[in-house]
Amino acid sequence: MTKNYGFDTLQVHAGARPDPATGARQVPIYQTTAYVFRDADHAAALFNLQEVGYIYSRLTNPTVSALAERIATLEGGVGGVCCSSGHAAQIMALFPLMGPGRNIVVSTRLYGGTVTQFSQTIKRFGWSAKFVDTDDLAAVAAAIDENTRALFCESIANPGGYVTDIPALAAVADKAGLPLIVDNTSATPWLCRPIEMGATLVVHSTTKYLTGNGTVTGGAIIDSGKFDWSASGKFPSLSAPEPAYHGLKFHETFGPLSYTFHSIAIGLRDLGMTMNPQAAHYTLMGIETLSLRMERHVANARKVAEWLEKDPRVEFVTYAGLPSSPYHDRAKKICPKGAGALFTFAVRGGYEACVKLVDSLELFSHVANLGDTRSLIIHSASTTHRQLSPEQQKAAGAAPNVVRVSIGIEDADDIIADLDQALAKATA
Ligand SMILES: *Cc1c(COP(=O)(O)O)cnc(C)c1O
Repeated sequence: MTKNYGFDTLQVHAGARPDPATGARQVPIYQTTAYVFRDADHAAALFNLQEVGYIYSRLTNPTVSALAERIATLEGGVGGVCCSSGHAAQIMALFPLMGPGRNIVVSTRLYGGTVTQFSQTIKRFGWSAKFVDTDDLAAVAAAIDENTRALFCESIANPGGYVTDIPALAAVADKAGLPLIVDNTSATPWLCRPIEMGATLVVHSTTKYLTGNGTVTGGAIIDSGKFDWSASGKFPSLSAPEPAYHGLKFHETFGPLSYTFHSIAIGLRDLGMTMNPQAAHYTLMGIETLSLRMERHVANARKVAEWLEKDPRVEFVTYAGLPSSPYHDRAKKICPKGAGALFTFAVRGGYEACVKLVDSLELFSHVANLGDTRSLIIHSASTTHRQLSPEQQKAAGAAPNVVRVSIGIEDADDIIADLDQALAKATA
């Protein structure tokens, strides 16, 4: 979109226009695998990347493209690619940067699934991750070696009420000539703008707030278009000749769009982690109301966290929106409109009380998800983190006496009343 529209306008309109064939106002679900070529020359130009167009839906699809453009616009990036899940987006984001023997330097405070993906699964590709406390910038700098290809963090880290100092981390990445990748899932672009703070790439699990209604899994990678992929020789996938496209050099040919084009022409083509048009449709529906929902999510989270913190049945609450949080001041800088709607609290009575609490709630759903319109709760120690020792659980912010909540957009009074009755049963 060329006009300087505000966020609320862009979340409804960016990437979409009335369908040129039918005038359909809403983005149609282009439920097709292939697209008819005008003639043989057109087909050849598309396959040579000389002309941009639709070939096959593993690479691009108009419904999915509309969503990618919308998220890229909201994040202030130049291009974006959607994937089948947030975890797919993370692999896709690293793919153009990495190779056997290469590593990434990553925050210790990450979504549990990401910890597993980075500490275990990526080893099968010959990649590795070094986990570092991103509050210790000297340790981050020290962890970077000649094989490091990116830094990775979450803006608001899931789940322990931690906020990353993105500008400080971006400065370390800049100095080392490396891209900074920020997972902005918990914050969304309405609360946090990583690219404006120096991030190179932003990844999302669109499964969460961007879709917002718990219907589909999806992911996205957004490129700032600001990184010089040819400066160091460390990113040959983008700077060196690509044999599969007659020696084409992505960065030289596509400039700021090189990362996006590579992710489609190589990443989606060969890894196949494609978002389907139905999923894109549900996410496009959800994203239209992103700012309205986030405003309510944050307002409710603040009320619930304040109420819990005053309650004698609760030991502590980790929410960066509370003045008691060590990350309160940083949150004001990194996410000035609010610290999200995801936090943990500790229940007096430990493991047993937490299990009783989860079982006694009526409005909350006990699920392994977050970012739904509905209020959600999980007792990590008895579910997602049950394989870990109590020490490991504590380090991961999932101690036996702690539950994680994702505060929904229901009436705050109803959410609080539900917690009140369940806490009474849990600590009786
Ligand atoms: C859920 C989540 C992911 C993984 O996304 P999926 O869509 O479940 O694959 C990654 N990062 C964060 C912060 C998440 O909340």
